[in-house]
Amino acid sequence: MSYYVCKNTECSCYDVPDVVTRESFKYVSGVGLVGEHADCPSCGKRREFVNPAADVPLSEKNVNFGQYSSASTEQKREILKQRSHEHFEKKVKERKDYLMNKAIGEMKSLGKKE
Ligand SMILES: [Zn+2]
Repeated sequence: MSYYVCKNTECSCYDVPDVVTRESFKYVSGVGLVGEHADCPSCGKRREFVNPAADVPLSEKNVNFGQYSSASTEQKREILKQRSHEHFEKKVKERKDYLMNKAIGEMKSLGKKE
């Protein structure tokens, strides 16, 4: 469950959680992601978005994503480099296995001919 809280002390909605079930976000340059209900309906100021579920790791994927999003640019580069390296190694291994099987197959068929 996520909600907005207005942090404007002069607002009638101050510190009152406004639960949102569905929220869509858009990227605003210089600000980041801003939800469509981010502005307080009472005072018009941008409210604080609270999403307690975001801190709960539901799966390894989410944990990794969390690590990624909180990583610095340098760390992100390292994570991506690591991922593409793993991908590369996997591809190379598949290719090697394929060539090895192919070579073995050719040797076997050659053997049959002689
Ligand atoms: Zn407000």
